[in-house]
Amino acid sequence: MEKKNLDWANLSFSYVKTDYRYVANYTAAAGKWDEGGLTTDDQIVMSEDAGVLQYSQSVFEGLKAYTTKDGHIVTFRPDLNAQRMYDSAKRLEIPPVPVDQFVDAVHQVVKANEAWVPPYGTGATLYLRPYVFGISPVIGVKPADDYQFRVFCTPVGPYFKGGAKPIYVRITDYDRAAPHGTGNIKAGLNYAMSLEAIVEAHQAGFAENIYLDAATRTKIEETGGANILFVAQDDTLVVPKSNSILPSITRRSLVYVAEHYLGMKVDERPVYLKEVLDGEFKECGLCGTAAVISPIGKINDHGKDYEFASGMEEMGPWMSKLRSTLLGIQEGEIEAPEGWIHVIG
Ligand SMILES: *Cc1c(COP(=O)(O)O)cnc(C)c1O
Repeated sequence: MEKKNLDWANLSFSYVKTDYRYVANYTAAAGKWDEGGLTTDDQIVMSEDAGVLQYSQSVFEGLKAYTTKDGHIVTFRPDLNAQRMYDSAKRLEIPPVPVDQFVDAVHQVVKANEAWVPPYGTGATLYLRPYVFGISPVIGVKPADDYQFRVFCTPVGPYFKGGAKPIYVRITDYDRAAPHGTGNIKAGLNYAMSLEAIVEAHQAGFAENIYLDAATRTKIEETGGANILFVAQDDTLVVPKSNSILPSITRRSLVYVAEHYLGMKVDERPVYLKEVLDGEFKECGLCGTAAVISPIGKINDHGKDYEFASGMEEMGPWMSKLRSTLLGIQEGEIEAPEGWIHVIG
């Protein structure tokens, strides 16, 4: 199989139309998802009154396929993405896609687009975007009758070109998620309302917004698209816990790596902004599929800066160890826990 002629190491994180995508349909009449299959058609034709267009009834996932050191094409824990999209769908009254069908769809899309999977060593990956949305007309506020599930893929470049430099972030006055809202599901609606906040943050010179809990505005939640991790002065990995944080698969994997590979103590609990400002933590990082860990060097809280001991030059030693261990597991250089690596070819 001949690979596409792309400059893999210099791809950005943007959409490129690849050859195949997967489509399945659910109708209220059938009461179930159809078998689905691959298509080359990247266009969607739907009613002007589709549920997704009127009331944002849609949820999505994000995961990557990549080439391991020994030349296999794999995905990382796709069953967890499947389960998370199942849970997200239920919260928005979308008929959930069965976990096995999700994993099979991802498998089919990667296999059909093998020529687009970046070679090992380039740092690039094939990003997969599964999503499901209400496609039938809805005008009174209620769930749509019919739904479509799609998976497309797009090659994306290395997240860090030339090293993982610590970022400068701010505490924002916007809220991301209400206490019993939708913060714990992966839905486009959570992103739409974060756009103004992120545009303003970028204009002010910050890489990201850190959201506090909406109820008390005292606890650290996460950023718009990544969970947050801290390392305490006694080397414990401290992980903010709250019902309105999105359950990141990277974060859950890093917690396992910390305990079982690095022998770290892990404390998952509410984390107060005050603890950060009082110097309880020496390292901080964002985690998610794209970057694995992106180090935070400095936090701005309403004009006042707090810089972590690890500083603005390099990733701290623990974040660095966590990141390289999980990357090593993903790339087949370190033995993975049972079931983490889904081999496609
Ligand atoms: C997707 C997402 C993450 C990261 O989740 P991963 O499964 O690790 O990629 C974190 N926070 C939010 C709000 C997200 O949407």
